[in-house]
Amino acid sequence: MGRQYEEVYHRSVEDAEEFWAAEAQKLHWFQRWEQVLDDSKAPFTRWFSGGQTNLCYNAVDRHVVAGKGDRPAILWESPELGQSRTLTFRELHREVNRFAAALQRCGVTKGDRVLVYMPMVPEALIAVLACVRIGAIHSVVFAGFSVESLAHRIEDSGSRVIVCADGALRKGKPINLKEIVDRAVDQARTEVERVIILDRGVVPWTPVPGRDVRWDEAMAEIGEAEVPAVPLNATDPSYILYTSGTTGKPKGVVRDTGGYMVALHASMDLIYGCTPEDVYWSTSDIGWVVGHSYIIYGPLLYGIPTLVYEGTPDSPNPGIWWETIEKHRVSVLFSAPTAMRMLRKFPSSWIEGHDLSSLRHVFLAGEPLDEPTYRWAAETLNKPVIDHYWQTESGWPMITNHMGIPPLPVKPGSPTREAIGWQLDVVDEQGDPVPRGQRGYLVAYPPLPPGALQTLWKDDERFVGSYWKHFARHGKRLYFSGDYAIKDEDGYYWLLGRADEVINVAGHRMGTREVEEVISGHPGVAEVSAIGIDDEIKGQAIAAFVVLKKDVADSPALHQEIIHLIRESIGPIATPKVLRVVPRLPKTRSGKVMRRVLRAICEEKALGDLSTIEDGASVDEVRKALDELGEVTQPRT
Ligand code: AMP
Repeated sequence: MGRQYEEVYHRSVEDAEEFWAAEAQKLHWFQRWEQVLDDSKAPFTRWFSGGQTNLCYNAVDRHVVAGKGDRPAILWESPELGQSRTLTFRELHREVNRFAAALQRCGVTKGDRVLVYMPMVPEALIAVLACVRIGAIHSVVFAGFSVESLAHRIEDSGSRVIVCADGALRKGKPINLKEIVDRAVDQARTEVERVIILDRGVVPWTPVPGRDVRWDEAMAEIGEAEVPAVPLNATDPSYILYTSGTTGKPKGVVRDTGGYMVALHASMDLIYGCTPEDVYWSTSDIGWVVGHSYIIYGPLLYGIPTLVYEGTPDSPNPGIWWETIEKHRVSVLFSAPTAMRMLRKFPSSWIEGHDLSSLRHVFLAGEPLDEPTYRWAAETLNKPVIDHYWQTESGWPMITNHMGIPPLPVKPGSPTREAIGWQLDVVDEQGDPVPRGQRGYLVAYPPLPPGALQTLWKDDERFVGSYWKHFARHGKRLYFSGDYAIKDEDGYYWLLGRADEVINVAGHRMGTREVEEVISGHPGVAEVSAIGIDDEIKGQAIAAFVVLKKDVADSPALHQEIIHLIRESIGPIATPKVLRVVPRLPKTRSGKVMRRVLRAICEEKALGDLSTIEDGASVDEVRKALDELGEVTQPRT
């Protein structure tokens, strides 16, 4: 009884202003908003205009003021280092104040960008919260990205201060982060004035005189500090987070302050079904959107401990996650299907020995949740498993079952229905809704709810071009998600993969253009096409087809060079699973690469419907290319 999905959802979109204002009231505002929704400059939607607030104040100070200072805020577990640490809200408050003062000492003020390139350590959260405390805009870069990716992000965001660690361990293997930062700073055409290094004693490093400062020294110089949280406009940017798009250049998604805060806070209760006594664990990384929203902000805004985990699911043993859940009495787990597929390979005895009675439900997102994985997780853990769909751009779930409202029946393979505030549909090329059960493009009707992206960093035009130019209906532009979907007769959505040249490797978005651009930088390469192919564990993997320049011979060394180039330019995450040299790429008469031909060759399966619209190729063209190329790419026996 009570808050049924239909009723709550209906209110969230029909009386959106009233609905979100009520959610906003649960948080602290230095100044109340004048207007809940300002849609006068659509698609540049603004929430809570005129209001002033601060994410750090709400995530930290508010709980100390409310007498909850002694409750744990961060539970850090590092199987990599064999260490753990707990910070209460009061301790977090102290450290954030000190680091905010350290940033100020580096000259950082409101609107400045600070780049954070750190592993999963409490200091990463402290750095992020210190930024928003003083109104600086953080740009967190996943500490698995390489020199060039980092250099691009330093340059594009114009970050003059970088916070990093000396290194990290991955399955015991040290990764020298400081060296990557040094090389990226040299490469970037922006002057980086200060690099603050958390010295963990993982790798040896040498400071650059006049530029580098150790974290502990910077903090010692400050001693104790009280840095008041700056009242920020609700519409001020809180962070930039880069994500892959259809071109080689990643997009800097810009998030606001007030709308994001309200949406995340509401989601903790309505979607994740949290209570104030819970412990929340998102196994993602702070470098991704899930990490921003549900390792840092969501749980802390809601005033519950966030488990910060440095390690992999199977090291030192495949029972480590379940051991961690038992140890910290985790109530809500948020992970990715890839992790479940990986853990599924191990005997269930790794799970059975643990007391998982604290765990109420498991949320999975980031990539399609296939039915066998869903069934395995639901049956083995004997908990509700909730598939939910969202994107870097949305900042929080767009399609989900709501555990804070009585949930709807689960249909395995579907993330269920629209999340509160999101008005979605599946449309055809003209922007008209397709009949239920038919495939089309997943779009959102404006205005997007609070928390969704505001624009792309310094590129309003690309924001409009990337998301709002594809479809319109009744004169209104629609937001394009980039995904294919089906809406069934019950209003459930079924995601069918990307409709653009973006693929999803282990829940992480990768632009095939990005990979192609790097490979074409190899002096021996004339042409290249990269595609996504099925992968048993990671969902998708990259396959790259390369045409060599005349007189360049194929060799194992050449393959190694190309792989090395990708790892250096993007990061290990972009390493192709398949790299094949071919005499030519299959193209349509109009010159478009027929990616599905390449895909069919790699996956050695039938092409399916030959007349799909993907590249406009004729059936004959596809057949011919497949015959030709299928023969030449067959592995030699
Ligand atoms: P990212 O912005 O890197 O989080 O990637 C977002 C993309 O991941 C979406 O556009 C989808 O293609 C995919 N995705 C995320 N969650 C799901 C899900 N639950 N089911 C299917 N695809 C998903």
